[in-house]
Amino acid sequence: MFVYFDNNATTPVDKEVADLVYKYMVSDYANPNSIHGFGNKIEKMMEDARELIAEKLDAMPYEIYFTSCASESINWAIRGICKANYRSGKHIVSSAIEHSATINTLKELENDGYSVTLIKTDKSGVVDLKELEEAIREDTILVSIMAANNETGTLEPVEKIGEIIKSKNKNTYFHVDAVQAIGKIPFSIRKVNCDMASFSAHKFHGPKGVGITYKKEGIRIFPYLTGGSQERSMRGGTQNTAGIIGSALAMKKAYDNLEDMKRIDALRHFMAEKIAHMGGIIATPLDNSVPNTLAVIFEGVRADSIVSALSDEGIFVSTSSACSSKSSSSNRVLHQMGYTEKQAQGNIRISLSHLNNGKEVDYFLEKLKNVLNFLKFNHSGV
Ligand code: PLP
Repeated sequence: MFVYFDNNATTPVDKEVADLVYKYMVSDYANPNSIHGFGNKIEKMMEDARELIAEKLDAMPYEIYFTSCASESINWAIRGICKANYRSGKHIVSSAIEHSATINTLKELENDGYSVTLIKTDKSGVVDLKELEEAIREDTILVSIMAANNETGTLEPVEKIGEIIKSKNKNTYFHVDAVQAIGKIPFSIRKVNCDMASFSAHKFHGPKGVGITYKKEGIRIFPYLTGGSQERSMRGGTQNTAGIIGSALAMKKAYDNLEDMKRIDALRHFMAEKIAHMGGIIATPLDNSVPNTLAVIFEGVRADSIVSALSDEGIFVSTSSACSSKSSSSNRVLHQMGYTEKQAQGNIRISLSHLNNGKEVDYFLEKLKNVLNFLKFNHSGV
């Protein structure tokens, strides 16, 4: 059996989306910036894609920009705002559980003289709102907080955070990393009231290589990638038209499929119950998280041993965020949530999509039980 439970790392491209991408690669391939008829046709298709994405996100088409991945979108939001607003201040607020695209960008900015305050979370991974409010100062130019955590699935109260920021300092910009929200919850820009937001198509059954940025009209920001006048001179470089057009369809399907995530949530609750019986600690707050994600800790067992033993059975889960799971550093997010180093080292992440079913869950649970018994018996502990 082949069981893919690593959908927070990436998702399989939807078949209809892949067909559409193929068409725009081999037949309708003109450069959307060319002024001939063929180019105009593709430009129109790309603008239709922008409009559809804007409609789904509750934004205006002119507030949507295409990049190459969410890491680029996040880099642009943070660096672009800092560069354009440093005269108003050099202080940034974020959280200790952000994705490395945010954390490492902030680390670099610290080297450039910006000061960064990282807000801590409670044991369920929710940022401390009181600490956040107190952290916002006169010279705070940006707050960047994620909508849903990639490792635990924990939902952050981004609507409330938006309110707190604007009431404390109306000049502070708010960026939301909403990568793990799309296709899992009905995310709306208007409700969150942020100034910028970042998305990635490969997390919602679109192709890799397409990032989406929401940028509120009128905010002060510099382009990140200079070049031609594409994307209203905010992001030089010929657009990935095939990927963009496919991503718009993927986003539409992601919103259309939201109802089905209730079934996935029920499977997740079922798994959580069985795993708790096996001695696993459920680190995901089931009542405040995206419906597909389950982070569990098997104290005293090495997570990488579990992942590789399951992989031998055709089951694919992950130890921590995909980008860092090949490094041996312990799980930064779990650790800061208050779990011990030893517990963090026994953390695996199970992340489903609407393509998964109960039969796969049963197979996974059966194999997991065997794997845990084997590893405990063979002292594969930490
Ligand atoms: N932000 C979050 C929360 C993520 O989970 C990821 C990917 O794992 C990213 C940002 C980066 O996305 P991309 O792979 O498109 O650069």
